[in-house]
Amino acid sequence: MAASLVFRLHDKGPKLVREVLLERGWEEYDEEEREDEDWNLYWRGSAFRNAQYHNLLPWQRLNHHPKTAGITRKDCLARNLRRMRATFGSALYDFSPVAFILPNDYTRFLSEYDKLRPSRGPPAYWICKPVDLSRGRGIFLFEDLKDLVYDCPVIVQRYISDPLLISGYKFDLRIYVCVKSFHPLTVYIHQEGLVRFATEKYDLASLRNFYAHLTNTSINKLGPFYRTEKERVGRGCKWTMSKFRHFLHSQDVNQNLLWQRINNIVTLSLLTIAPSVPSCPNCLELFGFDVLVDVRFKPWLLEVNYSPALTLDCPADVAVKKRLIGDLVDLMNYTLVDGLREKAYQRRGCEKSRFHANLPANSSIPVFPKFKKPKFLKQSSGTQPLQTQALPVLKTNHRVGDFIRTFPFNTATLRAAQQELDIKVITRELQKLTGRLAKADKKRRTEKEEEKKDEDEEDFDSLLWGPKDPPLISQCLKRQ
Ligand code: ADP
Repeated sequence: MAASLVFRLHDKGPKLVREVLLERGWEEYDEEEREDEDWNLYWRGSAFRNAQYHNLLPWQRLNHHPKTAGITRKDCLARNLRRMRATFGSALYDFSPVAFILPNDYTRFLSEYDKLRPSRGPPAYWICKPVDLSRGRGIFLFEDLKDLVYDCPVIVQRYISDPLLISGYKFDLRIYVCVKSFHPLTVYIHQEGLVRFATEKYDLASLRNFYAHLTNTSINKLGPFYRTEKERVGRGCKWTMSKFRHFLHSQDVNQNLLWQRINNIVTLSLLTIAPSVPSCPNCLELFGFDVLVDVRFKPWLLEVNYSPALTLDCPADVAVKKRLIGDLVDLMNYTLVDGLREKAYQRRGCEKSRFHANLPANSSIPVFPKFKKPKFLKQSSGTQPLQTQALPVLKTNHRVGDFIRTFPFNTATLRAAQQELDIKVITRELQKLTGRLAKADKKRRTEKEEEKKDEDEEDFDSLLWGPKDPPLISQCLKRQ
């Protein structure tokens, strides 16, 4: 069964996808040997053309949904989140640092800059990023307006200057998100992921030191301390998410609220584009969400990556990404449809031999007859490409490998996702769930504080009455 699946990679990459699929018994598409349509999965790092969505056959999958730039381009994300903030309130959409798209928003930026300029309070820092570059290229930080110099469209964003640090090192989280469908919205988050560290200690006095302020691996692996054994962080600049969870556990951090807030960020960001993404159940998308956590454990969305890097730079990459791609393939649930491609080609093989058998011996070889699309496929039109039916979403697995379905998460959100994407209901359910977790977290913290107080008192008692130390005070008291 597995041997009949064929994958097609654009520009021979990414290597990891080839490796995982070959290990699973898939065959690689070869244009010399196969027809144009003879593949099950087409994987590209960049976007597909519109026509490629319209001509999809039922057994074919693409690794991108159409029209997702609304969150994957920095300027579009900033614009969309601003729109959602205006519609649904800034309390809900408060997870991304305030941002301005320059040059257009320059006046608005100036007024915010002036508002935040300290007369006596703490200084405000800003980060400037070219809108369509990645991997930290062209980024710089500034405090004073005179240092803002740019020659291409950029976003200027409030710099989160109080990040959570591990032994003085800044880090951010790479969260892998799979959108299995936009209609109805169905989202899975991988439980593994990466923690990406800066390789020099965080210091606001040196805004130009990228190795202290940017957590991109592409930058830090060129830094002088990449290979050095760094306090607690270790060598290199990456941890797996499991290691980070262990770390949080060792620090007695209640993680439920943090992870739920991250889930909310993912869902709320996807809601900004979901209504405008054309339906395409044959597609799925792997996004990389970059999230920074501040000292108050508040997660901030920095950006959403289209085609997150799948290169293997270090042991953490190997541990995380290989499994990730394996789980992604499982999530595609190929066994239901792969038989169709084989059957279609067997039928075509027969047609081909019949066709050739009727030709005169000296005739040139004609073009191979095109597929006749089955009737149910011909009915699709417009932005609705040829589809297999999407599975009713709550009947599909809640967990596939390390992918956990985070949306929809209950009957109300399932119904809201199916009925014209009722965002108000969804946000209400998210708030209810988060509110419950926040309350539990608060209760837990109060209890801990109480316990701590008791322990402190006990410590004091044991100082007075402990077996090693003579109970001097009590003796004194008795003597009196
Ligand atoms: P790129 O696409 O070039 O990687 P990012 O937006 O991910 O751009 O920014 C690169 C790095 O800069 C992030 O990984 C993070 O370490 C840091 N960074 C970006 N924006 C902020 C911000 N608003 N506050 C604090 N750090 C930030």
